[in-house]
Amino acid sequence: MTNNQKLTNDALFERARRVTAAEDYDIQSRYPSIIERGDGPWLYDVEGTRLLDLTAGDGSLLLGHRPQKVIEAVTKQMRDYGANFSSTLSIPRIELAERLVERYPVAEKVVFSKTGSEATTLSVRLARAATGRDLILSSGFHGWHEWHLPYGQMGFDPATGVANFGYNEKALARMLTEFSSDVAGVIMSTELYYFDPEYYQRLSAMCRKHDVPFIMDEVFSGFRCGSHGLHGSGKVPADMVVISKGLTNGHPLSVVMGRRDLIDAYDTARAEGTYLREVPAMAAGLAVLDIIEDGSQHANGERMGQLLMDGMRDILNAHEIPNMVGGPPMFFDVITTAKPLMTKIYRTAYDYGVHFDDCGTQLVLTSFDESNVDFALSAFERATKKVIAESDIVPGELNEEFRLNTAEEEFGGYLRDDDRTRGLIEQTVQAIANRDRSLGPWRHAMGERSGH
Ligand SMILES: *Cc1c(COP(=O)(O)O)cnc(C)c1O
Repeated sequence: MTNNQKLTNDALFERARRVTAAEDYDIQSRYPSIIERGDGPWLYDVEGTRLLDLTAGDGSLLLGHRPQKVIEAVTKQMRDYGANFSSTLSIPRIELAERLVERYPVAEKVVFSKTGSEATTLSVRLARAATGRDLILSSGFHGWHEWHLPYGQMGFDPATGVANFGYNEKALARMLTEFSSDVAGVIMSTELYYFDPEYYQRLSAMCRKHDVPFIMDEVFSGFRCGSHGLHGSGKVPADMVVISKGLTNGHPLSVVMGRRDLIDAYDTARAEGTYLREVPAMAAGLAVLDIIEDGSQHANGERMGQLLMDGMRDILNAHEIPNMVGGPPMFFDVITTAKPLMTKIYRTAYDYGVHFDDCGTQLVLTSFDESNVDFALSAFERATKKVIAESDIVPGELNEEFRLNTAEEEFGGYLRDDDRTRGLIEQTVQAIANRDRSLGPWRHAMGERSGH
């Protein structure tokens, strides 16, 4: 490769195709830009095209690109101290743990890992190790690890010991009643468009009644549903909470925090890993907590998000595209009855300089200002007008059926109370009852307790 040749998006996509993968994820289905750098709320691709960023690094960024204080903290750690040492204990780790213990009701103790997938897996491992029980009841997305592949389908997987109750309260009540003394934990991701805090309170209370640990996967919502997440707002008690995205503004770090007796199962659970000790990400986390401490970052981000969310809803309404636009202002959902139309609208808006998340969840950075919101809305409006004029896609009807189907497709929410759902619950309960307890990875994780 010669360095004086100008890099183009097309040439780089070709090179990428030859030597790396993700044709679906990163090549075909994405906008045709290779991003070279970010600056606050903006992205710049290799050809110098500027795009407003509504993806926030898939939620990993909270403040924007390259905030000075975070860069300084990470650089100082790497330049003056180092990246990795022989023990997971370091001053930044201990300080960060102390800050989190102060910050969250659930956090008597905290442990760290690198990614959200790793931390949710760790929380499940801790729950099994601490309780000596085998079953996990789960709803929602927790990452890409093996135990989580059947994501989105109600049922029981005997290979992993995980039953998916599909956000269905009756299903959870039934499973807890039948199996409570075998359930190591209930883990669920926060789904804030469909469910209010009272829903999570009820599920948390149900777990408490059956003496089963309630684990909240707030990997996404931890720093985007207000500055403290749903649990940290004080509304929903839990036994363990997992956070990650946002905490470090883009550096790999995840946290499992919770009751002392659960977190203390760490050694029994054999949670080890070379990079669990990596310090710069912890320095980043401390810097972010300092920056968001006075609440002004979130106050601004939420105000900007609200303006953007209301504006996008108004534009869709004005063009008679039935929609459900809502959720927390810093990560709101744009769901319409015309998905193919939306794909075209987002693609067109990209040509006008806005990098919307084309899955429909728009992520607002705290560094947005009103001019950024205006810019995004104007691109969205122009794109909507243009696409509608050129397309003959007719949006579907917005009714209860659509709402229920969307819940099932988007996050595995089985919210109906009909024969099919009752049948699925029954099948799942039977599959759990008939499980072969000699299978499954938990028997290792339970270590000494189960006599291995
Ligand atoms: C992103 C996400 C995960 C997985 O985190 P990774 O860092 O991508 O491994 C788990 N749970 C939720 C709710 C998430 O949003």
